[in-house]
Amino acid sequence: MKVTLQNLTKKYPGRGKGPKTEVIAANDLNFEIPDGKLIGLLGPSGCGKSTTLNLLSGLQTPTSGRIFFGDEDVTDLPPQERGVGLVFQNYALYPHLTVRQNILFPLQNLKGAARLSKEVMEEKALEAARLVQIDGLMERKPAELSGGQQQRVAIARALVKMPRILLLDEPLSNLDARLRLQTREEIRRIQRETKITTVFVTHDQEEAMSISDQIVVMKDGVIQQIGRPQEVYDEPINLFVAKFLGTPPINVFMGRVKNQRLYIGDADVLEAPGVADQPVWAAVRPEGFILEKDGPLACALTGVEVMGRDITVVATHPDCENTAIRAIISAENQVDAGAHTVRFALKPHKVFLFDRDAGARLL
Ligand code: ADP
Ligand code: MG
Repeated sequence: MKVTLQNLTKKYPGRGKGPKTEVIAANDLNFEIPDGKLIGLLGPSGCGKSTTLNLLSGLQTPTSGRIFFGDEDVTDLPPQERGVGLVFQNYALYPHLTVRQNILFPLQNLKGAARLSKEVMEEKALEAARLVQIDGLMERKPAELSGGQQQRVAIARALVKMPRILLLDEPLSNLDARLRLQTREEIRRIQRETKITTVFVTHDQEEAMSISDQIVVMKDGVIQQIGRPQEVYDEPINLFVAKFLGTPPINVFMGRVKNQRLYIGDADVLEAPGVADQPVWAAVRPEGFILEKDGPLACALTGVEVMGRDITVVATHPDCENTAIRAIISAENQVDAGAHTVRFALKPHKVFLFDRDAGARLL
């Protein structure tokens, strides 16, 4: 099912005493989620991810704008009539019910013509449980399950009605690191198998990058960029997006462009074709550094971390915003850990220039 958000806005009135400033949690969102795809809705805490998801589910009503599932305008439909499956961070299972009863619950609440026979309900519950591989735990209570298993039950419960859209709000945040990895692979597999159009909300860029067909990066209720994860990583539209994606983070230098050359401090480090003379932010991906004896960018070496395939060179530079520059180079390089200075050349396609005021990309 294709989903369309059209000029979707949600404002919350200001709260508390004193001058009240309203919050625009979702600000004129326009985008289309292609049928059968998994979209990662990504941004820092408070940027409006949950609000956007709740608008899709119907738990919140927009201030203005429309939502379409396929060609159907669902903006005024209550949640139970939208055919959405919801999964939250805290699994929200019924503690006194078994796994089987928890999964059956949405089916037992179907009314009228939608009502199913007991046999069909049991069959569908088992099918959903198999999909998330908890069919061996059907008679247990939630308290007898691990966090990962509980979240699988929650996912099975969201899937049992075969929703038109699956909405997941930070579903992995309560799991430990290993389970988080495993469960995100599971979600990907289930989504591919069921082909249900899915919106996956997370503040974790790595999670969004690894699981999504497309990511939507938000900040302060405003969409910054939409694209395939690799596209957004390779061509960030502004400094915020460049900084938000990637581990270790991008290295941001105060630089300046003069005569189509990029300068960091006094060093002429790279060509900057087509960019007008101006002060800039020059952001360099960790993999954008080339270790070079006579390289133009001189940094103070503070450490060398060898990690098998790669070496991380840790350094500082007075014009770098990051407390430590992290440059990732191949382990085939030799780095003298005792040296005071390390010199780099830069890979042009791994360096992005942004204007100093708004942080917009300079091309
Ligand atoms: P996220 O899920 O990205 O962390 P939210 O959608 O929960 O962000 O919140 C977006 C903004 O809206 C935040 O500034 C938050 O404080 C505000 N907000 C969220 N829910 C409400 C509400 N019910 N009333 C007032 N403000 C809210
Ligand atoms: Mg949230």
